[in-house]
Amino acid sequence: MSYVDEVLARVQKQNADQPEFLQAVKEVLESLRVVIEADEEKYRKEALLERLTTPERQILFRVPWVDDKGQVQVNNAYRIQFNSAIGPYKGGLRFHPSVNLSIIKFLGFEQVFKNSLTGLPIGGGKGGSDFDPKGKSDREVMAFCQAFMTELYKYIGKDEDVPAGDIGVGGREIGFLYGQYKKITGLYEGVLTGKGLTYGGSLARTEATGYGLLYITNALLKDHGTSLEGKTVVVSGAGNVATYAIQKAQQLGAKVVTCSDSNGWIYDPDGIDVALLKEVKEVKRARLTEYKAARPSAEYHEGKGVWTVKCDVALPCATQNELGLDDAKALVANGVMAVCEGANMPTTLEATQYLQDNGVLFICGKASNAGGVATSALEMSQNSERLHWTFEEVDSKLQGIMENIYKNISEAAKKYGMEGNYVAGANIAGFLKVVNAMEAQGIV
Ligand code: NDP
Repeated sequence: MSYVDEVLARVQKQNADQPEFLQAVKEVLESLRVVIEADEEKYRKEALLERLTTPERQILFRVPWVDDKGQVQVNNAYRIQFNSAIGPYKGGLRFHPSVNLSIIKFLGFEQVFKNSLTGLPIGGGKGGSDFDPKGKSDREVMAFCQAFMTELYKYIGKDEDVPAGDIGVGGREIGFLYGQYKKITGLYEGVLTGKGLTYGGSLARTEATGYGLLYITNALLKDHGTSLEGKTVVVSGAGNVATYAIQKAQQLGAKVVTCSDSNGWIYDPDGIDVALLKEVKEVKRARLTEYKAARPSAEYHEGKGVWTVKCDVALPCATQNELGLDDAKALVANGVMAVCEGANMPTTLEATQYLQDNGVLFICGKASNAGGVATSALEMSQNSERLHWTFEEVDSKLQGIMENIYKNISEAAKKYGMEGNYVAGANIAGFLKVVNAMEAQGIV
């Protein structure tokens, strides 16, 4: 049996109840075959793939807090410190009822490669809780965040592990988490990113994941002789990533006609009104039915449906496995040219294969949504320097990083005989740097 197959079997056996984690490992190891098999005995002797697929540390804890009725609630929480070969653990916190060990491990594993691709010195980690901020009062969210940090603070630090936001963790939550960290430790340090501008946050961090997604999408299209100018784009999600993806797509001359949340989706043939979307989602924290109510040109549909809309470019920006095989078939039938992932692992393995087999340009999230964590690393640099950079300075660094990621993943794919396979390119380019650092540091 090949070394890759041995490790896949081992990971499967040890994590049989963790489908998302298994999916992420399978995708990565399959595309690393060509690299591993060129020097299989060395990698096997060093147990390199076992080390790469096993987190350095897994922290599981409970979070007790009191709701507005005086009832004590208890949530499960996680911080997975996956790999610190190239820098301190870095990766977001997700608060969503679906959160479990499998989801946090898949996200942490992906983060290792993503962070490597940014070219910045950050290792991979991820955390979160099954707490659902939806429908909670600000006081309840604060009580939860304080209780969560009261345990988490023991394991993080500006040079050890620097969490950020993710689904359900935005500026409000980061503020409460930071306040509690500071109160307990007495340290005013860059221990979290995505902070508010008045207390150490970076300009352009809020926009970074969505903007970065569009910078790499445009670089991809330009490399194939076209650009976003005049293209029709469909976006899923209506959160941080989706909102700023829509904004930047419009700035680059595209028309974005959809967005969605977990209840339904909007089709707006006049183009999504970003100011209205922000008002509904960021200010009122309401559902997309409110967008429809304020916008005569828009249609609202319950459930899923974004991928049935005819488009040139599709950008899944909501959550994992939201674009399946039937969705991929609908996109191809409608002539989609490119799919670039804003969310983490939004496309299933079968859907990815179908898109690639049908000539659709496809960039996976660990490359295309790396702008968020890259800008988080820029926030860490500013915190260390105790300086603030301008929006333009951060944005132009972000654009440079995304264009560089595109160059690196396309060159890696070409070098290993898989030109145009940006999934393989991303996995290989991310892997080589991490493995080089792991080998240099010995068996630790
Ligand atoms: P937000 O919480 O801001 O928004 C998430 C959006 O996706 C919301 O519109 C939400 O709808 C929708 N959504 C969430 N879960 C589901 C679900 N199970 N089914 C359907 N819709 C769902 O999160 P972000 O925008 O920050 O994150 C979106 C994705 O991007 C995630 O995969 C995240 O890991 C990834 N990502 C985020 C980065 C960042 O910087 N924020 C960086 C890199 C990746 P509703 O409000 O109804 O729940």
